[in-house]
Amino acid sequence: MSTVTVIDHPLIQHKLTLMRRAETPTGEFRRLLREISLLLAYEVTRDLPVEMVDIETPIAPMRAPALAGKKLCFVSVLRAGNGILEGMLDLVPSARVGHIGLYRNPQTLEAIEYYFKVPDDLPERDVIVVDPMLATGNSASAAMRRLKARGTRSLRHVSLVAAPEGITAFRAAHPDVPIFTAAIDQKLNEHGYIVPGLGDAGDRLFGTR
Ligand code: URA
Repeated sequence: MSTVTVIDHPLIQHKLTLMRRAETPTGEFRRLLREISLLLAYEVTRDLPVEMVDIETPIAPMRAPALAGKKLCFVSVLRAGNGILEGMLDLVPSARVGHIGLYRNPQTLEAIEYYFKVPDDLPERDVIVVDPMLATGNSASAAMRRLKARGTRSLRHVSLVAAPEGITAFRAAHPDVPIFTAAIDQKLNEHGYIVPGLGDAGDRLFGTR
């Protein structure tokens, strides 16, 4: 069964509390998500493989560790995933980026794909899928299905807030994909929103309604 890691660093928890507050304005919400994403990226990449390479410092030659192979690809689930993507790219600017556009059928809450673009060399990359809200798990599962069909070196899922129902569904569908999140909330409401959550992450990030 896939592992679930709650990244509960005090800085993340504090910033997430600010993001949850209904009165937090768009600009601050965006800045906080970017800051939290840096910290999430640090944790989620903790065990990436490194290899020793020969380099020269101004003083002497040495063998030093560097990320092994073709490295990372971040895949943003549009549109709220882009808020996490920004922070992750601050930390790993050389990473490649893919995008998956999914919207939720408001009746069935099923994920429907409208866009898919990923690098050609995806099978040689460790892929980190980013989406702030792991709610029903439908979008996350659909994204993983699509990426598995293309092939990847590894897959991980990163969210800010997860619902227990979404975690259960995702783990059943993709037991091999580790989950990283900053918080596990109480439940989903009848509209598929996380309670207490932070509202619609995309709307809060981009100032739409
Ligand atoms: N998507 C959101 O933006 N918020 C939720 O609470 C659930 C899904």
